[in-house]
Amino acid sequence: MSIPDAAVAVIAAALDDYRLTTPHDQQTPHGAAERAAEYLLSSGYRIAPDHTPEHTMPHLVDVDPYADPTGQLPTYRWRQAPSGLATRRQLRDMGLRPGGHDPVAVIECRRGQRVAYLYRIDQAAPKYPMTLAKEAALDRAMAARQTCPHCQRRYHHCLPLKTLGSCLECHDGTPADPGSYTAPQPQQLAA
Ligand SMILES: [Zn+2]
Repeated sequence: MSIPDAAVAVIAAALDDYRLTTPHDQQTPHGAAERAAEYLLSSGYRIAPDHTPEHTMPHLVDVDPYADPTGQLPTYRWRQAPSGLATRRQLRDMGLRPGGHDPVAVIECRRGQRVAYLYRIDQAAPKYPMTLAKEAALDRAMAARQTCPHCQRRYHHCLPLKTLGSCLECHDGTPADPGSYTAPQPQQLAA
């Protein structure tokens, strides 16, 4: 794809005008883009979506940073790949992930300028919902700040671990409200 020099000159002139005629604190990327589009249209250029196949199915254009581009994988052209294969992004849309399996084929996009790696759908593993993974990570972080290393109780509030190194009851005998913590699990008591 190449943009004619004259069109680039029109865009440059539009942006220059925009910069000079719009107060600095009112300039926005959107305003600059509108100005450039306006100048292109009034200069006889046509701005329209490209309906060639690779643009009508943009979700297939998927550069995969995890795959090895040097591998000798079978390469398919656009829309000619066998069924049962999907790109990493398509797997994600199906709620799946490659699950540790390597890609089994390559699909060429944009006349070979970009490639996407194809994985077997039947080997894919379910993807954990991001919210659950985040919740689990947050809970682990909170547990570390709420659990007394001496009595192993997990309190409902954060403990002064940096200063006292334990809950108040372990520190100076101040009895803890039994409703303010969860008793340790049996395997933690044994440890
Ligand atoms: Zn304690």
